[in-house]
Amino acid sequence: MARKRDTQSLNPVTVHREFFGVPGAVTVMTVTVSVVYIWYFSCNPEAGCQLPLTGARWKHIFAASTNYRAYLFLDAIIYYALWWSWLAMLYFVIPCPVVQGVELRNGRRLQYPINGLSSFLVTLGTALLVYVANGPKPFLWIADHYFQLAVASVIFSTSQALFVYLYSFRKSPSQNDSNEPVMLALAGNSGNPLYDFFIGRELNPRIGSLDLKFFNELRPGIMGWVLLNVSFAIKQHARFGFVSNSMWLVIVPQIWYCIDTLLFERKVLTTMDIVTDGFGWMLSFGDLTWVPAMYSLQARYLSFNPVHHSTFLAVLIAAMALGSFLVFRLSNSEKNAFRRNPNDPSVKHLEYITTEAGTKLLVSGWWGMARHINYTGDWLYGLAQCLATGFNTPMTYFFAVYFLVLLIHRNYRDECKCREKYKKDWTRYCERVPYMFIPHII
Ligand code: NDP
Repeated sequence: MARKRDTQSLNPVTVHREFFGVPGAVTVMTVTVSVVYIWYFSCNPEAGCQLPLTGARWKHIFAASTNYRAYLFLDAIIYYALWWSWLAMLYFVIPCPVVQGVELRNGRRLQYPINGLSSFLVTLGTALLVYVANGPKPFLWIADHYFQLAVASVIFSTSQALFVYLYSFRKSPSQNDSNEPVMLALAGNSGNPLYDFFIGRELNPRIGSLDLKFFNELRPGIMGWVLLNVSFAIKQHARFGFVSNSMWLVIVPQIWYCIDTLLFERKVLTTMDIVTDGFGWMLSFGDLTWVPAMYSLQARYLSFNPVHHSTFLAVLIAAMALGSFLVFRLSNSEKNAFRRNPNDPSVKHLEYITTEAGTKLLVSGWWGMARHINYTGDWLYGLAQCLATGFNTPMTYFFAVYFLVLLIHRNYRDECKCREKYKKDWTRYCERVPYMFIPHII
């Protein structure tokens, strides 16, 4: 009885359902899977790359679905499972610093191994060995079986989400903590199986020391994205005998973005995804399918439709990528350095306001220009990669549109969180820094 009371106070029933509850969850699942599907059948070497705006295009897409046996490919499912297992194995075996996450509602802190970057470098080295031993063949296989691999990742991410949903009903987080109830996400305990499966019921599902949310967040999907990009560049070379400057303008910044994310792996421990959100279908699918399948679209398009930019345009796009990356990186680093130590020489000249919540908010430097200038830099960086694909099709601009929506929604969630946390101090902060994204504009 005492145990039941503990569980209920630790895991209150979720009253407010995000995404408009069950209808929203079903819509998000249907639409996102359909987008992966539609974008593939509307943008490939045979179909060209056109938005499906006519009946004939939709007929083609529906006709393709009847050929599902060609896409449900056992080899792709096996290779996908091997990829995931390979990275899980590196998670355990590569020696690394182990850091503590933020304090949880039960007063505990979980430990996380920071070996994402070393896992990436070992994987990169292994890929190089594979190339030396076998030539481009394995990479061409990956490029040629992009869609089969995407289907395999949907099967894998959905099975994983189902597993963590069912796993969240165990009595305690592990055998060592038999008196401790499993900690659920505050948003994932509505009692509706479909909604909880979608949003994520358990906060930090772990198998032994493998933290599934943390592992999925930056490894199989992000590194899979790099692997796909490299494979598409190799495919372009195999098809046309060159790698176009547009391809370099896409894959170099994207691979650098992945490396940057892995370099700052420990920062992920303080993000909403890790601190607040449960691990369910939304994150599982987002990490394993959406990121690699949709973010590699520009390189995939260029692999069959190379675009050559004049030196002037290429330099302009590269400058845009570099400039926006600097905004993104310098603003994030400034806040991180300030939060770590406000007396650090790099930030001690900055102005800030103190709050009743105890933390300080910067009101000068990058954070004095706009409340989310880091999002602006991030978005422009992504836009530069879309521009690198030229202007023959709007389909390769999908990322810019989607990312804009994501960042606006994220900004809204973050502002709600800060308003709740800082109350009148947040109003004071907004008066000092009135712009959200672009100084003097919005
Ligand atoms: P931010 O790094 O913008 O952090 C927001 C938090 O910072 C606030 O909740 C508040 O937390 C603190 N804060 C806000 N204003 C100030 C200030 N003036 N001074 C000091 N602290 C402040 O949020 P995200 O985690 O959303 O984004 C991190 C990066 O990741 C961004 O650059 C974003 O573009 C990128 N990103 C990329 C994605 C992708 O798919 N590529 C997806 C999502 C994000 P506190 O409670 O501690 O005060």
